[in-house]
Amino acid sequence: MKGVGGDPGFPVVRDVDRVRRLLALPDVRPAMLDKLAGATVAMVGMGGLGCGSAPYLAAAGVGRLVLIDPGRVAATDLGRQILYGAADLGGLKVDVAAGRLAQQRPTLSIVRHPVALTADNAAALLQGADVVVDGLDDGSTRDVLNAWAVGGGAPVVFGGALGYEGQVTVVPPGGRPCLACLFGSVADASAECSVEGVLGPLVGVVGSLQAGEALKWILGVGHALMGRLWLVDLFTGAMRVVAIPARRGCPVCGAAEAL
Ligand SMILES: [Zn+2]
Repeated sequence: MKGVGGDPGFPVVRDVDRVRRLLALPDVRPAMLDKLAGATVAMVGMGGLGCGSAPYLAAAGVGRLVLIDPGRVAATDLGRQILYGAADLGGLKVDVAAGRLAQQRPTLSIVRHPVALTADNAAALLQGADVVVDGLDDGSTRDVLNAWAVGGGAPVVFGGALGYEGQVTVVPPGGRPCLACLFGSVADASAECSVEGVLGPLVGVVGSLQAGEALKWILGVGHALMGRLWLVDLFTGAMRVVAIPARRGCPVCGAAEAL
């Protein structure tokens, strides 16, 4: 646990001053800051998407971030995972990210889990999360996260970035439509950026949108990307949103189908 309380070496910045521009939005009221301060967001994966979303969640005043990632910083991460630098090579991502985020906002509470999410530990790791942000790069673990969302834990903001193309959708608690409605088994549909490549800023674009969806859910404002898939192609500059129909007989969420 890091970052609770102020560092006497830092100028004291009140959280309410940090979020003046957020409060200036017409549908955000001061009382909503308590929702942010009381919220826990679980970050599953602290690669490019996690690096793109966690700083905005910290900056906005989310009370607690749970960082879950077994990985260590590698040279091949530095081209797009902007919480990490050359001096961090070999360090645990959750430790390095926690240090950076605590510098960013000393009042942020951070929990670090340097482990991989599995079907066996998902319930324990994600317990108490108000929102989960997917920063995974492998399909089999996304299947675990999708199943957990369908089980009703909390909304999961899924994101993907490969090549020049990014995707974001939100699976609601209770999970219908779920990610498998869209892709079938996510493990079967996934390719890896280590093979296919990825344009670095794409993970920032997708991660930022995921942070936006998480903040909207916590604040209770806007229209969540539930039942919809946001698509961006940085190669052409095209963006669009398509509807995701709940799939009849979906092997993951189909049991909740209305009869
Ligand atoms: Zn489904």
